[in-house]
Amino acid sequence: MKPWEKNVRKVVPYTPGEQPDRPNMIKLNTNENPYPPSPGVARVLKELDPDSLRRYPDPGAEVLVHALAEYLGVSKQQVFVGVGSDDVLAMSFLTFFNSEKPILFPNITYSFYDVWAGLFQIPFECPALDKEFRICTEDYFRDCGGIVIPNPNAPTGLEKSLEELEEIIRKNSEVIVIIDEAYIDFGGTSALSLLPKYENLLVVQTFSKSRSLAGMRIGYAIGNEKLIQYLNDVKYSFNSYTMSAAALAAGVEAVRDDTYFRETLQKIINTRERTKKELHRLGFSFPDSRSNFIFATHRDCPAEELYEALKQADIYVRYFRKPGIDNYLRISIGTEEQMDELIRFMEHYLGERL
Ligand code: PMP
Repeated sequence: MKPWEKNVRKVVPYTPGEQPDRPNMIKLNTNENPYPPSPGVARVLKELDPDSLRRYPDPGAEVLVHALAEYLGVSKQQVFVGVGSDDVLAMSFLTFFNSEKPILFPNITYSFYDVWAGLFQIPFECPALDKEFRICTEDYFRDCGGIVIPNPNAPTGLEKSLEELEEIIRKNSEVIVIIDEAYIDFGGTSALSLLPKYENLLVVQTFSKSRSLAGMRIGYAIGNEKLIQYLNDVKYSFNSYTMSAAALAAGVEAVRDDTYFRETLQKIINTRERTKKELHRLGFSFPDSRSNFIFATHRDCPAEELYEALKQADIYVRYFRKPGIDNYLRISIGTEEQMDELIRFMEHYLGERL
């Protein structure tokens, strides 16, 4: 080790899903939306005047904050925006989890949580999911430094009822409870309705999945005004200009076009439900997903083998080589045609294998 290395902050980073770029690939590995963003997004990006890029963007991201506040029926002071929900979640960990006591999140969940906890030196504990991959509510009734619950959970896709979430929020009034709703628009019930009742609740959502803007990096948090003020204080101590002019303009258009948003969601939900039936027919089982992915295991074929076979055919799904989930594939919902091709390939592959 070089002498200077002892002062380096060493962390184990998050591993993002592969981003291959092959001409005819079917990419079902990072829960992206298979449909383009609202046509208004293309229009404002085309209209963006390069001369305006000389200037810094609005540090308060006022236009986007305003559009979201109006859309969600909250005040502007209740909205915090960031560079994808990863940025919003990281800022929230840094702002709200500053206790000696461990924060709690499930043992099988979004694998960025333990990375941020490690980076910010936040102690954490991870209550185990039950055998059906459900989050056990009672595990979160204990003294702790804060709580993060993704709803629906990733990579399982399972939704937790609002009643159970409310119990967790109510019984932990001394700490902040973050509900990560990255996948809530695909048929789940948001915890936003609980905000007037609980000042310790922060709801985090994203434009990456349901609004087809993963490449633009837009996420947001909704909470009571005090929480948002604390978040902004930390943000302005780190990087004032988080949202680019392009992201602000695109984000506003995406929020405005509610008809397009709802149509796209419905298409994905319909395709998901059809895919569930097909997967069952082929011998897969899976938790009943309320998200834009299905976490599936096959009764005969090991997940890793199938993952490799799919990859050879330029069909990318996500495989996690982790205890408890290493025989599962997380399959994002693509277009009808993409899912047809996936099913056709698997039907053939599994048939040949017998
Ligand atoms: N939360 C969960 C549960 C996720 O799966 C993801 C996507 N990887 C994110 C947050 C972050 O998404 P983004 O930064 O694109 O908003």
